[in-house]
Amino acid sequence: MALYGYRCSHCGYEADSLIRDDELFCISCHVSLKRDYRFNVQPGFQEHFNTSTGRYVSNRSEFNDQLRRASDAHTEYTGIEHNFKPVDPYDHAAFGLSDDDVADGRETFNRAITDGKVTPQELTNVT
Ligand SMILES: [Zn+2]
Repeated sequence: MALYGYRCSHCGYEADSLIRDDELFCISCHVSLKRDYRFNVQPGFQEHFNTSTGRYVSNRSEFNDQLRRASDAHTEYTGIEHNFKPVDPYDHAAFGLSDDDVADGRETFNRAITDGKVTPQELTNVT
């Protein structure tokens, strides 16, 4: 789902809309906002076999439900409180990684490719 940005050409006020040709007005100048060519892409949920839950998931609520059940099962089995949450793989901070950690990782991968220890194809085949 795309999110369209609109901007006031007088004061720079910005607003977002889900509608591409929405007619929005500036809250202070009351003039029509112009569409700004910035947008965020919010990926939709794709049906897939989820390796974390070991089941097929067709929507987000089903996935959250499966994670809740997996959390309960692991809590019961281990006696340690579990609370599995979906994470954005690009949200490095969620994994406790800093920007420097990510840069170091890229450097290590690039060096492995340069040194011929691994091919780019081998890297993309890692699942
Ligand atoms: Zn304005």
